[in-house]
Amino acid sequence: MQIFDAIIQIKEKIKSLKAEGKNIGFVPTMGTLHEGHLSLVTKSIEQCDITVCSIFVNPIQFNNKEDLEKYPRMFEQDRALLEEAGCDIIFCPSEKEMYPEPVTEVYEFGLLEKVMEGAFRPGHFNGVAIVVKKLFDIVEPHYAYFGEKDFQQLAIIKQLVKIHNLTINVIGCDIIRENDGLAMSSRNLRLNASDRKESTFIFKNLNKAKQMAIGGKSISEIKEQIALEFEKNPNFTLEYFEIANPLTLMTLDSFDQGQAARAFIAAYIGGIRLIDNIEINS
Ligand code: AMP
Repeated sequence: MQIFDAIIQIKEKIKSLKAEGKNIGFVPTMGTLHEGHLSLVTKSIEQCDITVCSIFVNPIQFNNKEDLEKYPRMFEQDRALLEEAGCDIIFCPSEKEMYPEPVTEVYEFGLLEKVMEGAFRPGHFNGVAIVVKKLFDIVEPHYAYFGEKDFQQLAIIKQLVKIHNLTINVIGCDIIRENDGLAMSSRNLRLNASDRKESTFIFKNLNKAKQMAIGGKSISEIKEQIALEFEKNPNFTLEYFEIANPLTLMTLDSFDQGQAARAFIAAYIGGIRLIDNIEINS
């Protein structure tokens, strides 16, 4: 496994690999890797000749200074996990390398950035789009792997690829969960023991919503019930619970026959913001 922190050097490497006819799979991350990240790396290894994983805590996608400062960083452990997984290249640039000049681009993603994460984290998706476009320009992958854990982000990336006419296949990957159902996330490390135990409440409520949908309840009944569950739990503050069309992310007021739907949650516990989602009309 090779490690690069300079753009010019990784570009040279990619150029020579492409000259040998290798196809490149790319997994962008912010590090502090867990099995969710590694499932993306494994998928890339299965499908591509060369797998590149980037580790970069992107400051411009954080709309909360404390969240950025406290974001966990553990490069040595990440390096060992990637080596063991069979990753070929790590790209871990400094902030100065990625942003030698102040950022000015502004993306327009329409409705995709106006609901849920977009509504509650102003500027977040613009920061994500800027860094991912830069990383795509550097790595020039054939395939790029993103988790459905950040379902709205995946939709934004697909749109980014369309906006720039990129020839990158964006592959969405299943959410990997802990045994008790909590979606794996680097931020889970910041939960204290009792909040960690309690945090399975999020997935339980997504499943409750799914069962209600299967049982024929309306979206307003489901939303009311989930809001009530959170009101009754003093450990949590619900930021949003929405049911949306998984393609457009337009939030739904009613289920249409045969129309796919997905439930999305963001909630705080102990000052930590957790998100999750689940397909609910199956
Ligand atoms: P992050 O390091 O949080 O920016 O995540 C890097 C990539 O890993 C993103 O595409 C995430 O959606 C994905 N990811 C994070 N957690 C999970 C998970 N539990 N299951 C699957 N993919 C995940």
